[in-house]
Amino acid sequence: MQINRDNAEERDSCDPLGEFRDEFVLRPGLIYLDGNSLGPMHVSVRERMQACIEDEWANDLIASWNTAGWYDMPLRLGARIAPLIGADANDVVVTDSTSINLFKVLAAAIRLNPGRKVIVSERSNFPTDLYMVEGLSAFAGKGHELRLIDRPEDVAQAIDDSVAVVMLTHVNYRTGRVHDMADITRMAHEAGALVVWDLAHSTGALPVDLAGADADFAVGCTYKYLNGGPGAPAFVYVAPRLQTVAEQPLSGWFGHSRPFAFDPSFEPAKTIHRFLTGTPPVLSMTALEPALAIWDRVDIAAIRAKSVELCEYFIALVEQECAGFGLELASPRDSARRGSQVSFRHENAYAVMQALISRDVVGDFRAPDIMRFGFAPLYIGFVDVFDAVATLSDILQSNAWRDDRFQVRSAVT
Ligand SMILES: *Cc1c(COP(=O)(O)O)cnc(C)c1O
Repeated sequence: MQINRDNAEERDSCDPLGEFRDEFVLRPGLIYLDGNSLGPMHVSVRERMQACIEDEWANDLIASWNTAGWYDMPLRLGARIAPLIGADANDVVVTDSTSINLFKVLAAAIRLNPGRKVIVSERSNFPTDLYMVEGLSAFAGKGHELRLIDRPEDVAQAIDDSVAVVMLTHVNYRTGRVHDMADITRMAHEAGALVVWDLAHSTGALPVDLAGADADFAVGCTYKYLNGGPGAPAFVYVAPRLQTVAEQPLSGWFGHSRPFAFDPSFEPAKTIHRFLTGTPPVLSMTALEPALAIWDRVDIAAIRAKSVELCEYFIALVEQECAGFGLELASPRDSARRGSQVSFRHENAYAVMQALISRDVVGDFRAPDIMRFGFAPLYIGFVDVFDAVATLSDILQSNAWRDDRFQVRSAVT
């Protein structure tokens, strides 16, 4: 591959997704490689939020639950996410946070498989996923045990007839390693286990086919590749065959079959609505909606194709321009096994990342030694990749990262 800036410009000029960049608010000069942590704002969000707070909230007040479609938001937004994850519109709902949704679906899955005690996951899973299992087993479990695998390829070995649930994150948050969803789901089902997929780093980054894989449950995040805004509510998928039988413990009134009957006893909805809990965060959902609308015009296969090219270009450039500075690829080299991020290990990963951020190349650090770079094809181009690596190379060559101010750790890394 020829590596120079002209070549990168050429690739940007014929990029079919190039037109979307202007739809995101990104200040000039900023190379934002952290959309896998918090996506940027869609340009229409300001106006939409303004209308929501002035017209819908300030002026119309309570009427807006009906007149502005607030009440339907969890299902309406879920329907927008559905095609990105291979689900039908009625099988996805936007609600609560990913952590809380994990609790709900894990509890539901455990209850559907009462004779079994083992929950299989990965030690390198995002900690909240593991914490939710711990918390659930401590409070509601009956001797449930977490069986953690240390290498992604060990999943098959860990699944036997004692396993109630296999809970995995499809794309690893640190390395970007992708699990084979269809294969693992099939193995789990053959062993009589249910599967919970966490799609936090998958949704909007690569095609996902939950129905095709016959997945049981999935949860996912909307503030990463879906650009929903800080703390935007998460989503839940439940296979249609389970929607009338899966019981979740947070039986709030929005999960009731008739919330406005104000019945003193709980009767779960016979639809995906039973995975709702309480009143939805309308303001957050209002910001999320225009960010989701963009996906009507985007082909997820084109996103994946460009994501693979951006990541390959980044790896090739880093290995060429930064050789000899102790960087080690922490992501799979095979793009078929990698999500939309590239991670490198470095002894001084934190300081190097701080130095990059100070020069407007924003990625993030994941303890103990990972520099993580996310490539969101909607707004990242090949010139961005080229310039980011030029900056990284300069920081390493000049030892700029050794400056004292880059050694101080903030609360959020
Ligand atoms: C980002 C992420 C979460 C976030 O959970 P919150 O409840 O939104 O804080 C959960 N799981 C994984 C795998 C993630 O990457």
